[in-house]
Amino acid sequence: LLQLTRKLIEIRSVLLSVDQSEALQLPSIVVIGSQSSGKSSVLEAIVGHEFLPKGDNMVTRRPIELTLINTPSNKASSSSSSPAEYGVFPNMPGMGKITSFQTIQKTLTDLNLSVPPEMAVSDDPIHLQIHSPHVPDLTLIDLPGYIQISSMDQPEQLKDKISGLCDKYIREPNIILAVCAADVDLANSPALRASRRVDPLGTRTIGVVTKMDLVKPDHGATIVRGERYPLHLGYVGVVCKAPPTSGVLRTIRGDKEKPNVTGAVLKREEEFFGGENARYFGRDQKVMVGTDTLRRRLMDVLETSMSSSLHGITNAVQLELEEASYQFKVQYNDRRITSESYMAETIDALKARFKEYTAQFTKPAVRSKLKDMLDDKVMNILEKLYWDDSRTLELGKLSEDKKLNDSEDLLKQDTYWKYKLETASSLLTKSGVGRDSTGLVSEGLRQLINEISKGEPFTYHQSLSEKIIGFSHGILRERIGLTSDQVENCIKPFKYEIEIDDREWELGRIKSDLKFNEEIKRCDNKLNQIKSKLGGQRKMNALIKHVAELEKYEQEKRNRRFSNPINNTENDHDEIQEEGAPVLDAYRYSPAQIIDGRDALLLSNRLSLLKIRQQAIKSRRCKLGPDQSAFCPEAFLAVVADKLAYTSTMFINIELLEQFFYQFPREIDSRILYDLDREEIAKFARENPKIKQHLDLQERKDKLESVMRSLQSLVNLQKDAKGSSNAS
Ligand code: GDP
Repeated sequence: LLQLTRKLIEIRSVLLSVDQSEALQLPSIVVIGSQSSGKSSVLEAIVGHEFLPKGDNMVTRRPIELTLINTPSNKASSSSSSPAEYGVFPNMPGMGKITSFQTIQKTLTDLNLSVPPEMAVSDDPIHLQIHSPHVPDLTLIDLPGYIQISSMDQPEQLKDKISGLCDKYIREPNIILAVCAADVDLANSPALRASRRVDPLGTRTIGVVTKMDLVKPDHGATIVRGERYPLHLGYVGVVCKAPPTSGVLRTIRGDKEKPNVTGAVLKREEEFFGGENARYFGRDQKVMVGTDTLRRRLMDVLETSMSSSLHGITNAVQLELEEASYQFKVQYNDRRITSESYMAETIDALKARFKEYTAQFTKPAVRSKLKDMLDDKVMNILEKLYWDDSRTLELGKLSEDKKLNDSEDLLKQDTYWKYKLETASSLLTKSGVGRDSTGLVSEGLRQLINEISKGEPFTYHQSLSEKIIGFSHGILRERIGLTSDQVENCIKPFKYEIEIDDREWELGRIKSDLKFNEEIKRCDNKLNQIKSKLGGQRKMNALIKHVAELEKYEQEKRNRRFSNPINNTENDHDEIQEEGAPVLDAYRYSPAQIIDGRDALLLSNRLSLLKIRQQAIKSRRCKLGPDQSAFCPEAFLAVVADKLAYTSTMFINIELLEQFFYQFPREIDSRILYDLDREEIAKFARENPKIKQHLDLQERKDKLESVMRSLQSLVNLQKDAKGSSNAS
């Protein structure tokens, strides 16, 4: 036995998964018929079980692609792991092998009803395999029944939709099983009408005449003989269901929970076609009757059709395979990949990128970032405590004072500056250095992670990059509190006492000198901007002078008001007449210019103060050493900022960076690499369209290769069989 059909059925399902194109289609039997023609009953008689959806509200809404696979009946099979009879929904692997045909029926009903009512029918097929020792190897496609009369809930449109769907399936090379009821004139059979349109010679149509018991046997025999509407493959008459009043089905039903349909049908057909009626249906009458005959007929026809398709399909597959191999060579140079290898590569690249980026977090780099942050703080403090204090000019003079060489004396004389320095120092050390420096570095790490989880190929793997960001933030969250406390703890001594040696002092002085340069440049730039906006130095000077007078005048007015608050409302309206007021001049400038003028005034005051302070830092007194701190707060704070940055870096490095750099790659392994199963990895790889294309082509080529091998061996077998039959 060639088992050609069986092997080609396997090949057919592989090919369907490769390609839906017509060239690669192997024949299947398509079952069409009008509603209530007895279509389901015929299919169930062939399968031997009730398993199709029942009900009067259009229960078949999707094609059901039914693959019957004959399993060898094994007496011991009941004890073996695999059940003798079961169904499988290949597109729902989770359901496994279903031994209850009631469950199959329920599932099919649900799948059909999942088509929304407004769509009515869908051409998305349901795939079902039935493995059983009692079924022949066949592929059958059950389609929604043709509707005869349109009713309220079955509009005209639906009629067209159903015949459109059937038309898609009754094309070549499929075999058409046209189901017609004996008690309805064949001239009215929509199934035969549809078949005639696509197969006018009836070379691939089998007629099934159901409900033979409902017509007189001689009439039935005439129909089956098919003289009026001849079909090359002929008609088979069947009696698939007994009317409910008949006792036969009921007794069988009473036996078991799940009736063996085949048994009941055979018994009924035996009764009907045998006995008295044998003179119409007996062997010598040359008519085909009975479901058993139908099964055999279907197997024969399918086998013949498959075997005549063999050559054509082999050629078609060969062509497809050549094309796929060529593409695979051209596009990928025959390089094979797997989802797993892609996953591993992606993770490796991620780790490498991480490593590369972490180079930004060396100790010197972190220290310099922290220094910048602390320098900003220092600037703010200097501004608040010194540069906005008019006595700071005196401080400059004190530093220049050559008579007061002894610093001890000076400090005794001026506790004001000593106190101010202590305030400045504690403003800096108690500004939340632990929190701010940890925050700064962890923000850097956060950005690093965002950076490496962006860009190709992560653009395709949204959920992966979210996962990476999620767990790295988790690590950071865990470390931040701890690190910040640790850093705060370690800089605690600086809150009480700051020891500075001469070398540190000198460095601090140099650094603050540089800072002054920067700040002076900044102010200069801003002043220049305003100057060019106002149209030159002279104009700016005039404006500055004007604004200064205005301010002076306003200040005096405020002072007057302050000393004489009762009269101020009366004074308001005759302000203009007040003596010495530069008010009339004010019309020379627009409000925007006045604002610029005020800025320019502030900047030029700041500039001259900065220059005086820079001088002070370079003065002989300041060079004397750290005990002159009170006169040189800028140098002093620069040293403190350095110390804070140094200590913070050390602990942030241990508590945050080292930990993060250690944990991150390990989390990638445990949460991504080892956490995903095969299916998830396959899904992951296919998120990347380039990889998907590669995998798809590779898979297509592999499948075509394996199909080609099977086909080749079938062709050889066929040749051998022909050879031996010719020889005999
Ligand atoms: P479908 O709508 O074409 O699938 O038709 P069904 O298989 O559901 O059958 C429609 C009705 O005809 C049901 O009530 C069946 O019991 C009945 N029926 C089917 N086959 C036969 C038959 O051979 N003889 C008799 N008397 N009734 C049948």
